[in-house]
Amino acid sequence: MDAQEELDRLSGVFFTQGEFVASVSGTTTPVVDPATAQEIGAFPHVTAAEISDVVRAANVAQKAWWAESGLHRSELLHEVASAMRRISPEVAEIMTRETGKPFKESSDEMMWSVSATDYYAEIGRHSVGSVIGTSVAGQMHYTLKEPMGVVVVILPANFPVLLLMWEAAAALAAGNAVIVKPSEYASLTTLKFMEAFEALPAGLVQCVTGGGEVGRQLVSHPETHMIGFTGSVPTGQAIAKACAEQFKPCLVEASGNDAFIVMPSAQLRTAARAATFAAFLNCGQVCTSAERIFVHEAVYDEFAAMVVEETGKLRIGNGLGKVDLGPMEHAGELARFEKVLARALEQGAKVVQGGGRPEGLPVELQQGFFHEPTVLTEVTPDMDVMTEEIFGPLAPLCKVDSFDQALELTNSSQFGLGATIYTSDPVEMHRATNEIVTGMVWVNAPLLDNDAGPFGGRKMSGLGRQLGAEGLDTFRHTKMVMVDPAASEQDFWWFPYSDEESFTPEA
Ligand code: NAD
Repeated sequence: MDAQEELDRLSGVFFTQGEFVASVSGTTTPVVDPATAQEIGAFPHVTAAEISDVVRAANVAQKAWWAESGLHRSELLHEVASAMRRISPEVAEIMTRETGKPFKESSDEMMWSVSATDYYAEIGRHSVGSVIGTSVAGQMHYTLKEPMGVVVVILPANFPVLLLMWEAAAALAAGNAVIVKPSEYASLTTLKFMEAFEALPAGLVQCVTGGGEVGRQLVSHPETHMIGFTGSVPTGQAIAKACAEQFKPCLVEASGNDAFIVMPSAQLRTAARAATFAAFLNCGQVCTSAERIFVHEAVYDEFAAMVVEETGKLRIGNGLGKVDLGPMEHAGELARFEKVLARALEQGAKVVQGGGRPEGLPVELQQGFFHEPTVLTEVTPDMDVMTEEIFGPLAPLCKVDSFDQALELTNSSQFGLGATIYTSDPVEMHRATNEIVTGMVWVNAPLLDNDAGPFGGRKMSGLGRQLGAEGLDTFRHTKMVMVDPAASEQDFWWFPYSDEESFTPEA
Protein backbone atom coordinates (compact mmCIF):
# COMPACT_ATOMS: atom_id res chain seq x y z
CA MET A 1 0.00 0.00 0.00
CA ASP A 2 1.20 3.48 -0.80
CA ALA A 3 0.02 5.22 2.39
CA GLN A 4 -0.28 8.70 0.94
CA GLU A 5 -2.25 7.43 -2.06
CA GLU A 6 -4.57 5.65 0.36
CA LEU A 7 -4.97 8.75 2.54
CA ASP A 8 -5.79 10.77 -0.58
CA ARG A 9 -8.42 8.19 -1.59
CA LEU A 10 -10.00 8.37 1.88
CA SER A 11 -10.02 12.17 1.99
CA GLY A 12 -13.26 14.02 1.29
CA VAL A 13 -15.48 10.94 1.44
CA PHE A 14 -17.82 9.21 3.87
CA PHE A 15 -18.97 5.58 3.87
CA THR A 16 -22.58 4.81 3.08
CA GLN A 17 -24.47 1.81 1.67
CA GLY A 18 -21.23 -0.13 1.19
CA GLU A 19 -19.40 2.59 -0.74
CA PHE A 20 -17.08 5.52 -0.24
CA VAL A 21 -18.99 8.56 -1.47
CA ALA A 22 -17.68 12.11 -1.96
CA SER A 23 -19.51 14.47 0.37
CA VAL A 24 -21.16 17.52 -1.18
CA SER A 25 -20.19 19.44 1.97
CA GLY A 26 -18.08 22.52 1.45
CA THR A 27 -16.60 22.18 4.92
CA THR A 28 -13.54 19.99 5.40
CA THR A 29 -10.96 19.71 8.17
CA PRO A 30 -7.32 18.90 7.46
CA VAL A 31 -5.84 15.72 8.91
CA VAL A 32 -2.38 16.18 10.38
CA ASP A 33 0.23 13.51 11.13
CA PRO A 34 1.05 14.24 14.80
CA ALA A 35 4.63 12.97 14.40
CA THR A 36 5.54 15.37 11.61
CA ALA A 37 2.83 18.06 11.93
CA GLN A 38 2.37 17.67 8.15
CA GLU A 39 -1.06 17.65 6.52
CA ILE A 40 -1.82 14.18 5.15
CA GLY A 41 -5.48 14.46 4.15
CA ALA A 42 -8.85 15.98 5.01
CA PHE A 43 -12.28 14.79 6.11
CA PRO A 44 -15.64 16.35 5.23
CA HIS A 45 -18.30 17.52 7.69
CA VAL A 46 -21.19 15.66 6.12
CA THR A 47 -24.38 17.62 5.50
CA ALA A 48 -27.77 17.25 7.21
CA ALA A 49 -29.23 15.81 3.99
CA GLU A 50 -26.43 13.23 3.79
CA ILE A 51 -27.05 12.29 7.43
CA SER A 52 -30.77 11.79 6.73
CA ASP A 53 -30.00 9.49 3.80
CA VAL A 54 -27.56 7.49 5.93
CA VAL A 55 -30.12 7.10 8.72
CA ARG A 56 -32.79 6.01 6.24
CA ALA A 57 -30.48 3.39 4.70
CA ALA A 58 -29.51 2.13 8.17
CA ASN A 59 -33.16 1.59 9.10
CA VAL A 60 -33.83 -0.39 5.91
CA ALA A 61 -30.71 -2.53 6.37
CA GLN A 62 -31.47 -3.15 10.05
CA LYS A 63 -34.91 -4.62 9.37
CA ALA A 64 -33.52 -7.09 6.84
CA TRP A 65 -30.61 -7.98 9.16
CA TRP A 66 -32.92 -8.77 12.07
CA ALA A 67 -35.12 -10.87 9.81
CA GLU A 68 -32.13 -13.20 9.15
CA SER A 69 -31.32 -16.21 11.36
CA GLY A 70 -28.96 -15.84 14.29
CA LEU A 71 -26.65 -18.35 12.64
CA HIS A 72 -26.46 -16.28 9.45
CA ARG A 73 -25.60 -13.12 11.41
CA SER A 74 -22.96 -15.07 13.30
CA GLU A 75 -21.36 -16.40 10.09
CA LEU A 76 -21.17 -12.93 8.56
CA LEU A 77 -19.67 -11.43 11.72
CA HIS A 78 -16.98 -14.12 11.66
CA GLU A 79 -16.29 -13.04 8.07
CA VAL A 80 -15.89 -9.47 9.31
CA ALA A 81 -13.35 -10.72 11.88
CA SER A 82 -11.43 -12.54 9.11
CA ALA A 83 -11.40 -9.41 6.97
CA MET A 84 -10.08 -7.44 9.94
CA ARG A 85 -7.16 -9.87 10.25
CA ARG A 86 -6.47 -9.49 6.52
CA ILE A 87 -6.52 -5.68 6.42
CA SER A 88 -4.83 -5.21 9.80
CA PRO A 89 -1.38 -4.13 8.52
CA GLU A 90 -2.88 -1.43 6.27
CA VAL A 91 -5.34 -0.10 8.85
CA ALA A 92 -2.62 -0.13 11.52
CA GLU A 93 -0.29 1.90 9.34
CA ILE A 94 -2.98 4.52 8.65
CA MET A 95 -3.85 4.55 12.38
CA THR A 96 -0.25 5.23 13.33
CA ARG A 97 0.09 7.97 10.73
CA GLU A 98 -3.12 9.64 11.90
CA THR A 99 -3.03 9.18 15.71
CA GLY A 100 0.72 8.81 16.34
CA LYS A 101 0.55 5.61 18.36
CA PRO A 102 3.34 3.04 17.85
CA PHE A 103 2.59 0.59 15.02
CA LYS A 104 2.69 -2.32 17.48
CA GLU A 105 -0.13 -0.70 19.49
CA SER A 106 -2.17 -0.09 16.32
CA SER A 107 -1.71 -3.75 15.32
CA ASP A 108 -2.59 -4.97 18.84
CA GLU A 109 -5.73 -2.87 18.70
CA MET A 110 -6.76 -4.58 15.46
CA MET A 111 -6.25 -8.04 16.99
CA TRP A 112 -8.14 -7.19 20.19
CA SER A 113 -10.98 -6.00 17.97
CA VAL A 114 -10.92 -9.32 16.07
CA SER A 115 -11.37 -11.30 19.29
CA ALA A 116 -14.25 -9.05 20.42
CA THR A 117 -15.95 -9.55 17.04
CA ASP A 118 -15.57 -13.35 17.12
CA TYR A 119 -16.83 -13.37 20.71
CA TYR A 120 -20.00 -11.43 19.89
CA ALA A 121 -20.55 -13.42 16.68
CA GLU A 122 -21.11 -16.41 18.96
CA ILE A 123 -22.85 -15.03 22.03
CA GLY A 124 -25.22 -13.01 19.85
CA ARG A 125 -26.95 -16.25 18.86
CA HIS A 126 -26.60 -18.00 22.19
CA SER A 127 -29.85 -16.79 23.68
CA VAL A 128 -32.50 -14.28 22.70
CA GLY A 129 -34.53 -14.45 25.86
CA SER A 130 -35.47 -16.73 28.70
CA VAL A 131 -38.44 -18.75 29.89
CA ILE A 132 -39.88 -17.59 33.19
CA GLY A 133 -41.78 -19.50 35.84
CA THR A 134 -45.45 -18.62 35.34
CA SER A 135 -47.67 -16.69 37.71
CA VAL A 136 -50.77 -18.43 36.30
CA ALA A 137 -50.94 -22.19 35.73
CA GLY A 138 -51.13 -23.35 32.13
CA GLN A 139 -49.58 -20.20 30.66
CA MET A 140 -46.23 -19.60 29.00
CA HIS A 141 -44.17 -16.60 30.21
CA TYR A 142 -40.91 -15.63 28.56
CA THR A 143 -38.74 -12.71 27.45
CA LEU A 144 -37.57 -11.83 23.95
CA LYS A 145 -34.35 -9.90 23.38
CA GLU A 146 -34.78 -7.49 20.48
CA PRO A 147 -32.46 -4.96 18.84
CA MET A 148 -32.70 -1.26 19.57
CA GLY A 149 -32.72 -0.45 15.83
CA VAL A 150 -30.10 1.99 14.57
CA VAL A 151 -27.22 2.47 17.01
CA VAL A 152 -24.98 5.54 16.67
CA VAL A 153 -21.43 5.05 17.93
CA ILE A 154 -19.59 8.32 18.71
CA LEU A 155 -15.89 7.96 19.37
CA PRO A 156 -12.67 9.62 20.61
CA ALA A 157 -9.30 9.17 18.87
CA ASN A 158 -7.32 7.10 21.34
CA PHE A 159 -8.61 3.64 20.27
CA PRO A 160 -10.53 4.30 17.05
CA VAL A 161 -11.01 0.65 16.06
CA LEU A 162 -11.16 -1.09 19.44
CA LEU A 163 -13.74 1.23 20.97
CA LEU A 164 -15.77 1.00 17.77
CA MET A 165 -15.78 -2.79 17.74
CA TRP A 166 -16.46 -3.24 21.47
CA GLU A 167 -19.77 -1.55 20.72
CA ALA A 168 -20.41 -2.27 17.04
CA ALA A 169 -19.74 -6.03 17.28
CA ALA A 170 -22.20 -6.32 20.15
CA ALA A 171 -24.75 -4.04 18.47
CA LEU A 172 -24.58 -5.98 15.18
CA ALA A 173 -24.74 -9.35 16.93
CA ALA A 174 -27.85 -8.09 18.72
CA GLY A 175 -29.47 -7.30 15.36
CA ASN A 176 -28.85 -3.55 15.09
CA ALA A 177 -27.47 -1.36 12.32
CA VAL A 178 -24.55 0.91 13.21
CA ILE A 179 -23.64 4.45 12.20
CA VAL A 180 -20.16 5.52 13.31
CA LYS A 181 -19.17 9.12 13.99
CA PRO A 182 -15.39 8.90 14.41
CA SER A 183 -13.16 11.38 16.19
CA GLU A 184 -11.92 14.37 14.22
CA TYR A 185 -8.45 12.94 14.90
CA ALA A 186 -9.05 9.41 13.59
CA SER A 187 -11.53 9.82 10.75
CA LEU A 188 -9.39 8.43 7.92
CA THR A 189 -8.45 5.37 10.02
CA THR A 190 -12.12 4.67 10.67
CA LEU A 191 -12.99 5.13 7.00
CA LYS A 192 -10.21 2.73 5.99
CA PHE A 193 -11.52 0.24 8.58
CA MET A 194 -14.93 0.22 6.86
CA GLU A 195 -13.41 -2.25 4.37
CA ALA A 196 -13.74 -4.86 7.11
CA PHE A 197 -17.54 -4.82 6.66
CA GLU A 198 -17.56 -5.90 3.01
CA ALA A 199 -19.38 -9.14 3.85
CA LEU A 200 -22.27 -7.35 5.55
CA PRO A 201 -25.35 -6.04 3.72
CA ALA A 202 -24.89 -2.50 2.39
CA GLY A 203 -26.10 0.13 4.83
CA LEU A 204 -25.70 -2.00 7.94
CA VAL A 205 -22.49 -0.22 9.00
CA GLN A 206 -21.90 3.33 7.80
CA CYS A 207 -19.43 6.05 8.76
CA VAL A 208 -20.15 9.78 8.71
CA THR A 209 -17.37 12.22 9.46
CA GLY A 210 -17.49 15.68 10.97
CA GLY A 211 -17.36 17.48 14.28
CA GLY A 212 -19.68 17.84 17.24
CA GLU A 213 -22.48 19.19 15.05
CA VAL A 214 -22.61 15.93 13.05
CA GLY A 215 -22.69 13.98 16.32
CA ARG A 216 -25.49 16.22 17.63
CA GLN A 217 -27.64 15.62 14.54
CA LEU A 218 -27.23 11.87 14.80
CA VAL A 219 -28.11 11.93 18.50
CA SER A 220 -31.28 13.96 18.06
CA HIS A 221 -32.44 12.31 14.83
CA PRO A 222 -35.82 10.66 15.54
CA GLU A 223 -34.89 7.58 13.49
CA THR A 224 -31.75 6.68 15.47
CA HIS A 225 -32.56 4.55 18.48
CA MET A 226 -29.55 4.34 20.75
CA ILE A 227 -26.27 6.20 21.31
CA GLY A 228 -23.00 4.57 22.34
CA PHE A 229 -20.66 7.39 23.34
CA THR A 230 -17.02 7.35 24.41
CA GLY A 231 -15.27 10.62 25.17
CA SER A 232 -15.12 13.53 27.60
CA VAL A 233 -17.46 14.30 30.50
CA PRO A 234 -19.01 17.51 29.06
CA THR A 235 -19.83 15.82 25.74
CA GLY A 236 -21.18 12.76 27.56
CA GLN A 237 -23.43 15.02 29.62
CA ALA A 238 -24.64 16.90 26.53
CA ILE A 239 -25.46 13.61 24.80
CA ALA A 240 -27.23 12.15 27.86
CA LYS A 241 -29.34 15.32 28.08
CA ALA A 242 -30.22 15.22 24.38
CA CYS A 243 -31.13 11.53 24.70
CA ALA A 244 -33.35 12.33 27.69
CA GLU A 245 -35.53 14.49 25.43
CA GLN A 246 -36.57 11.36 23.54
CA PHE A 247 -35.86 8.80 26.30
CA LYS A 248 -33.30 7.38 23.88
CA PRO A 249 -31.03 4.88 25.65
CA CYS A 250 -27.37 5.87 25.82
CA LEU A 251 -24.15 4.25 26.91
CA VAL A 252 -21.65 6.81 28.23
CA GLU A 253 -17.98 5.86 28.59
CA ALA A 254 -16.32 9.03 29.89
CA SER A 255 -13.12 10.12 31.61
CA GLY A 256 -11.09 8.52 34.37
CA ASN A 257 -8.19 9.30 36.69
CA ASP A 258 -7.38 5.82 37.85
CA ALA A 259 -5.47 5.10 41.04
CA PHE A 260 -2.47 2.74 41.09
CA ILE A 261 -1.62 1.63 44.64
CA VAL A 262 1.77 0.19 45.56
CA MET A 263 2.05 -1.54 48.94
CA PRO A 264 5.25 -2.69 50.70
CA SER A 265 4.55 -6.39 50.01
CA ALA A 266 4.46 -5.78 46.23
CA GLN A 267 7.11 -7.22 43.96
CA LEU A 268 8.56 -3.77 43.53
CA ARG A 269 10.43 -4.07 40.22
CA THR A 270 7.39 -5.66 38.58
CA ALA A 271 5.16 -2.94 40.06
CA ALA A 272 7.51 -0.24 38.73
CA ARG A 273 7.49 -1.73 35.22
CA ALA A 274 3.69 -2.06 35.45
CA ALA A 275 3.24 1.56 36.58
CA THR A 276 5.50 2.79 33.78
CA PHE A 277 3.43 0.86 31.24
CA ALA A 278 0.08 1.89 32.75
CA ALA A 279 1.08 5.57 32.85
CA PHE A 280 2.66 5.82 29.40
CA LEU A 281 0.85 3.35 27.12
CA ASN A 282 -0.39 5.33 24.09
CA CYS A 283 1.40 8.38 25.53
CA GLY A 284 -0.88 8.26 28.58
CA GLN A 285 -3.95 8.79 26.39
CA VAL A 286 -5.89 5.84 27.77
CA CYS A 287 -9.06 6.34 29.80
CA THR A 288 -7.72 3.77 32.30
CA SER A 289 -4.15 5.14 32.45
CA ALA A 290 -2.54 5.11 35.89
CA GLU A 291 -2.94 8.78 36.81
CA ARG A 292 -2.73 8.80 40.62
CA ILE A 293 0.07 6.55 41.80
CA PHE A 294 -0.24 6.09 45.59
CA VAL A 295 2.93 4.55 47.02
CA HIS A 296 3.35 3.42 50.62
CA GLU A 297 5.98 5.52 52.40
CA ALA A 298 8.01 2.41 53.32
CA VAL A 299 8.86 1.83 49.63
CA TYR A 300 8.27 5.27 48.11
CA ASP A 301 11.89 6.29 47.43
CA GLU A 302 12.93 2.87 46.14
CA PHE A 303 9.84 2.63 43.92
CA ALA A 304 10.29 6.18 42.56
CA ALA A 305 13.90 5.38 41.62
CA MET A 306 12.75 2.27 39.77
CA VAL A 307 10.02 4.14 37.85
CA VAL A 308 12.57 6.80 36.87
CA GLU A 309 14.90 4.06 35.65
CA GLU A 310 12.17 2.26 33.67
CA THR A 311 10.92 5.52 32.18
CA GLY A 312 14.43 6.49 31.16
CA LYS A 313 14.57 3.40 28.93
CA LEU A 314 11.56 4.43 26.80
CA ARG A 315 12.26 5.34 23.18
CA ILE A 316 10.23 8.20 21.75
CA GLY A 317 9.72 9.00 18.08
CA ASN A 318 7.60 8.33 15.01
CA GLY A 319 5.22 5.44 15.71
CA LEU A 320 6.36 3.82 12.46
CA GLY A 321 9.89 3.49 13.89
CA LYS A 322 11.32 1.27 16.64
CA VAL A 323 9.81 3.22 19.53
CA ASP A 324 7.79 2.75 22.71
CA LEU A 325 6.06 6.15 22.64
CA GLY A 326 4.79 8.26 19.78
CA PRO A 327 3.54 11.85 19.87
CA MET A 328 0.32 13.06 21.50
CA GLU A 329 -2.82 12.99 19.34
CA HIS A 330 -2.77 16.64 18.27
CA ALA A 331 -1.36 20.07 18.98
CA GLY A 332 -4.30 21.05 21.20
CA GLU A 333 -3.79 18.01 23.42
CA LEU A 334 -0.07 18.75 23.79
CA ALA A 335 -0.80 22.35 24.78
CA ARG A 336 -3.47 21.23 27.28
CA PHE A 337 -1.11 18.64 28.76
CA GLU A 338 1.69 21.15 29.15
CA LYS A 339 -0.65 23.34 31.22
CA VAL A 340 -1.53 20.36 33.45
CA LEU A 341 2.18 19.76 34.05
CA ALA A 342 2.98 23.45 34.63
CA ARG A 343 0.17 23.69 37.19
CA ALA A 344 1.50 20.63 39.06
CA LEU A 345 4.94 22.24 39.28
CA GLU A 346 3.41 25.52 40.40
CA GLN A 347 1.62 23.61 43.18
CA GLY A 348 4.88 22.05 44.38
CA ALA A 349 5.42 18.79 42.47
CA LYS A 350 8.98 17.98 41.40
CA VAL A 351 10.07 16.56 38.04
CA VAL A 352 12.43 13.61 38.53
CA GLN A 353 12.34 12.35 34.94
CA GLY A 354 11.41 14.00 31.64
CA GLY A 355 9.51 17.25 32.01
CA GLY A 356 9.65 18.77 28.53
CA ARG A 357 9.66 18.20 24.81
CA PRO A 358 12.27 15.65 23.78
CA GLU A 359 15.55 16.90 22.40
CA GLY A 360 17.55 15.39 19.57
CA LEU A 361 14.63 14.22 17.44
CA PRO A 362 15.37 13.93 13.72
CA VAL A 363 14.62 17.11 11.82
CA GLU A 364 11.39 15.76 10.22
CA LEU A 365 9.91 15.17 13.71
CA GLN A 366 10.87 18.46 15.28
CA GLN A 367 7.46 20.06 14.71
CA GLY A 368 5.68 16.89 15.97
CA PHE A 369 3.52 16.87 19.12
CA PHE A 370 5.96 14.94 21.30
CA HIS A 371 6.39 15.17 25.04
CA GLU A 372 8.79 13.25 27.24
CA PRO A 373 7.29 10.68 29.57
CA THR A 374 7.48 12.55 32.86
CA VAL A 375 7.68 11.34 36.47
CA LEU A 376 6.66 13.61 39.36
CA THR A 377 7.43 13.23 43.07
CA GLU A 378 6.37 15.35 46.06
CA VAL A 379 2.83 15.15 44.75
CA THR A 380 0.04 15.70 47.28
CA PRO A 381 -3.60 14.58 46.98
CA ASP A 382 -5.02 18.12 46.87
CA MET A 383 -3.07 19.13 43.73
CA ASP A 384 -5.10 19.62 40.53
CA VAL A 385 -3.04 16.91 38.85
CA MET A 386 -4.57 14.43 41.30
CA THR A 387 -8.17 15.58 41.01
CA GLU A 388 -8.57 16.13 37.25
CA GLU A 389 -7.97 13.75 34.35
CA ILE A 390 -4.39 14.04 32.97
CA PHE A 391 -4.69 12.11 29.67
CA GLY A 392 -1.00 12.51 28.82
CA PRO A 393 2.48 11.08 29.56
CA LEU A 394 2.67 11.80 33.29
CA ALA A 395 3.27 9.55 36.31
CA PRO A 396 2.58 11.48 39.54
CA LEU A 397 3.84 9.61 42.62
CA CYS A 398 1.99 10.47 45.83
CA LYS A 399 3.16 9.14 49.22
CA VAL A 400 0.62 7.46 51.54
CA ASP A 401 1.18 6.30 55.12
CA SER A 402 -1.21 3.33 55.15
CA PHE A 403 -3.39 1.02 53.13
CA ASP A 404 -6.47 2.75 54.55
CA GLN A 405 -5.25 6.13 53.36
CA ALA A 406 -4.58 4.69 49.88
CA LEU A 407 -8.14 3.33 49.72
CA GLU A 408 -9.65 6.56 51.00
CA LEU A 409 -7.76 8.66 48.44
CA THR A 410 -8.60 6.23 45.65
CA ASN A 411 -12.29 6.62 46.42
CA SER A 412 -12.14 10.39 46.93
CA SER A 413 -12.12 10.93 43.15
CA GLN A 414 -15.10 12.26 41.19
CA PHE A 415 -14.29 9.50 38.68
CA GLY A 416 -14.72 5.74 39.05
CA LEU A 417 -13.41 3.96 35.97
CA GLY A 418 -10.68 1.55 37.11
CA ALA A 419 -8.02 1.08 39.80
CA THR A 420 -4.94 -1.09 40.19
CA ILE A 421 -3.25 -2.38 43.33
CA TYR A 422 0.14 -4.07 43.62
CA THR A 423 0.37 -6.17 46.77
CA SER A 424 1.10 -9.73 47.86
CA ASP A 425 -1.09 -9.44 50.95
CA PRO A 426 -4.36 -11.38 50.49
CA VAL A 427 -6.21 -9.19 52.99
CA GLU A 428 -5.30 -6.05 51.04
CA MET A 429 -6.27 -7.77 47.79
CA HIS A 430 -9.65 -8.74 49.21
CA ARG A 431 -10.34 -5.34 50.76
CA ALA A 432 -9.27 -3.49 47.59
CA THR A 433 -11.55 -5.54 45.34
CA ASN A 434 -14.46 -5.03 47.74
CA GLU A 435 -14.01 -1.44 48.83
CA ILE A 436 -12.78 0.42 45.73
CA VAL A 437 -15.66 2.22 44.00
CA THR A 438 -14.84 1.72 40.30
CA GLY A 439 -16.04 -0.38 37.37
CA MET A 440 -12.83 -2.42 37.20
CA VAL A 441 -10.18 -3.38 39.80
CA TRP A 442 -6.90 -4.93 38.73
CA VAL A 443 -4.75 -6.76 41.28
CA ASN A 444 -1.18 -7.04 40.02
CA ALA A 445 -2.53 -6.94 36.41
CA PRO A 446 -3.01 -3.34 35.19
CA LEU A 447 -5.02 -2.28 32.12
CA LEU A 448 -6.13 -5.77 31.09
CA ASP A 449 -9.43 -6.22 29.26
CA ASN A 450 -11.41 -9.36 28.58
CA ASP A 451 -14.02 -9.50 25.80
CA ALA A 452 -16.05 -11.86 27.97
CA GLY A 453 -16.25 -9.54 30.99
CA PRO A 454 -17.84 -6.10 31.37
CA PHE A 455 -16.04 -2.76 31.00
CA GLY A 456 -17.36 0.61 32.18
CA GLY A 457 -17.25 3.25 34.86
CA ARG A 458 -19.06 4.55 37.93
CA LYS A 459 -19.57 8.12 39.15
CA MET A 460 -18.48 10.71 36.53
CA SER A 461 -16.80 7.98 34.44
CA GLY A 462 -20.06 7.01 32.85
CA LEU A 463 -23.20 5.03 32.54
CA GLY A 464 -23.71 1.43 31.42
CA ARG A 465 -21.42 -1.39 30.38
CA GLN A 466 -19.81 -2.67 27.21
CA LEU A 467 -18.19 -6.09 26.66
CA GLY A 468 -19.28 -9.44 28.05
CA ALA A 469 -22.87 -10.61 28.16
CA GLU A 470 -23.85 -7.29 29.79
CA GLY A 471 -22.36 -5.48 26.79
CA LEU A 472 -24.67 -7.44 24.47
CA ASP A 473 -27.73 -6.58 26.56
CA THR A 474 -26.73 -2.92 26.40
CA PHE A 475 -27.82 -3.02 22.75
CA ARG A 476 -31.03 -5.03 23.24
CA HIS A 477 -34.53 -4.34 24.46
CA THR A 478 -36.21 -6.93 26.65
CA LYS A 479 -39.79 -7.73 25.77
CA MET A 480 -41.94 -9.65 28.27
CA VAL A 481 -44.41 -12.09 26.69
CA MET A 482 -47.31 -13.85 28.47
CA VAL A 483 -49.37 -16.42 26.60
CA ASP A 484 -52.43 -18.42 27.61
CA PRO A 485 -52.67 -21.06 24.87
CA ALA A 486 -56.16 -22.12 26.03
CA ALA A 487 -57.50 -18.53 26.30
CA SER A 488 -58.99 -19.53 29.66
CA GLU A 489 -61.41 -17.39 31.70
CA GLN A 490 -59.36 -15.58 34.32
CA ASP A 491 -62.04 -14.99 36.88
CA PHE A 492 -59.59 -14.94 39.76
CA TRP A 493 -59.32 -11.17 38.95
CA TRP A 494 -61.71 -10.18 36.06
CA PHE A 495 -65.09 -8.38 36.26
CA PRO A 496 -67.52 -8.65 37.79
CA TYR A 497 -65.95 -8.17 41.25
CA SER A 498 -67.59 -10.20 43.98
CA ASP A 499 -69.55 -8.38 46.68
CA GLU A 500 -67.56 -10.23 49.34
CA GLU A 501 -64.42 -8.40 48.21
CA SER A 502 -65.93 -4.89 48.36
CA PHE A 503 -65.23 -2.48 51.21
CA THR A 504 -67.10 -3.27 54.37
CA PRO A 505 -67.26 -0.41 56.92
CA GLU A 506 -66.34 -1.45 60.44
CA ALA A 507 -69.38 -1.82 62.68
P1 NAD B 1 -14.77 14.57 23.11
O1 NAD B 1 -15.87 14.44 24.08
O2 NAD B 1 -14.22 15.91 22.84
O3 NAD B 1 -15.20 13.96 21.68
C1 NAD B 1 -15.63 12.65 21.54
C2 NAD B 1 -16.55 12.56 20.33
O4 NAD B 1 -17.76 13.27 20.57
C3 NAD B 1 -15.95 13.16 19.05
O5 NAD B 1 -16.24 12.28 17.99
C4 NAD B 1 -16.71 14.47 18.90
O6 NAD B 1 -16.81 14.93 17.57
C5 NAD B 1 -18.07 14.09 19.44
N1 NAD B 1 -18.90 15.22 19.91
C6 NAD B 1 -18.47 16.41 20.41
N2 NAD B 1 -19.53 17.15 20.79
C7 NAD B 1 -20.64 16.42 20.53
C8 NAD B 1 -22.04 16.62 20.72
N3 NAD B 1 -22.53 17.73 21.29
N4 NAD B 1 -22.91 15.65 20.35
C9 NAD B 1 -22.45 14.50 19.82
N5 NAD B 1 -21.14 14.24 19.60
C10 NAD B 1 -20.24 15.19 19.96
O7 NAD B 1 -13.64 13.57 23.65
P2 NAD B 1 -12.11 13.45 23.19
O8 NAD B 1 -11.34 14.57 23.78
O9 NAD B 1 -12.05 13.17 21.76
O10 NAD B 1 -11.71 12.10 23.97
C11 NAD B 1 -10.94 12.05 25.12
C12 NAD B 1 -11.78 11.58 26.30
O11 NAD B 1 -12.31 10.29 26.03
C13 NAD B 1 -10.96 11.44 27.57
O12 NAD B 1 -11.63 12.11 28.60
C14 NAD B 1 -10.94 9.94 27.82
O13 NAD B 1 -10.86 9.57 29.17
C15 NAD B 1 -12.25 9.52 27.23
N6 NAD B 1 -12.26 8.08 26.94
C16 NAD B 1 -13.04 7.26 27.71
C17 NAD B 1 -13.04 5.89 27.51
C18 NAD B 1 -13.89 4.98 28.34
O14 NAD B 1 -14.06 3.82 27.95
N7 NAD B 1 -14.41 5.41 29.47
C19 NAD B 1 -12.24 5.36 26.50
C20 NAD B 1 -11.45 6.23 25.72
C21 NAD B 1 -11.47 7.59 25.96
